[in-house]
Amino acid sequence: MIKMTNYKQQSILAAGFILVACFFKPIQSKSVNLLTNQSNSKDAMKEVRTIDSIYSPPPVHFVGDGFRVHSLITPRGPIRSMRMNPFIMLDYNAPHFFSPSTKPRGVDIHPHRGFETVTIAYQGEITHRDNKGGGGIIGPGDVQWMTAASGVLHEEFHSESYSKEGGIFQMVQLWVNLPAKYKMSQPKYQPILKDSLVNVSVGSNSSVELVAGSYADVRGPAETFSPLHISNVQLSGEDVVPFSFPSNWNVGILVLEGALMVNGNHEVVKNHFAVMAHNASSFELRALEGETKILLLAGEPLEEPIVSYGPFVMNTEEEIRQAITDFQQGVFGDWPQD
Ligand code: MN
Repeated sequence: MIKMTNYKQQSILAAGFILVACFFKPIQSKSVNLLTNQSNSKDAMKEVRTIDSIYSPPPVHFVGDGFRVHSLITPRGPIRSMRMNPFIMLDYNAPHFFSPSTKPRGVDIHPHRGFETVTIAYQGEITHRDNKGGGGIIGPGDVQWMTAASGVLHEEFHSESYSKEGGIFQMVQLWVNLPAKYKMSQPKYQPILKDSLVNVSVGSNSSVELVAGSYADVRGPAETFSPLHISNVQLSGEDVVPFSFPSNWNVGILVLEGALMVNGNHEVVKNHFAVMAHNASSFELRALEGETKILLLAGEPLEEPIVSYGPFVMNTEEEIRQAITDFQQGVFGDWPQD
């Protein structure tokens, strides 16, 4: 039985500094055995990882003036950070037309500590700059992977050239949590351009484009601090694309284009997010019809408490207080002079 979660209006943690603590609870696997009375390991091969819940996109809100997003994963839901951990935040800017502008839209200088921001551009261009030397412009298909760790200041804007032209903008920003032992490590920046992504062809015309983690014994370019997988999957015609991740991993699917068929029996339509159950490892995807594009996320849960406060994600309230103090006292560094 799949829960259909219709988003109900609730105030969203935007730039607000509201303390939200999500203490660790063991993952409660609501397993649905497709094959009844078959729980021994010999039969585990036959079981498929089913869908736990499908989420419709919540109402949009703006991050700064440049990112018009559906916040699907946040500390307070609709999908709670702990449920998709280590993916603790997902903002989806579904295709949206921005008119030409001489002043690039976006988000001005702000801090982060304790996690990584992963921005995937699908349409339009994004300029990023941080105070630890990271920066660059990404366009369609490119990814920027910023490890905030002990602390950065950064700004995120539409690129100047995209702003002048205007046009359709589409992107995803993920926050990937860092294991406690890396939260105070050195910041890092990985520009991951589309031509460095690793493409695996499947069937007659489908593909798995790896950003991070592996598929069919090949590995995507991103360096990660915990085991995880991020890929753009293109599904075409009748091709069936199989996946398998350890059953305790959190797995989720955002449908970017078209409509998805999961395990041959459940549909997930555009802009919806499917959270997979923990009842088995393997599942199969195909397009419901024509061409379908999805973002697939899978990761080993970090079994540590999550305490988040606006742009800081740590393990304890004391560490959050320290982050606020450090930010106020300039420990994150200065903004570079032009
Ligand atoms: Mn940011």
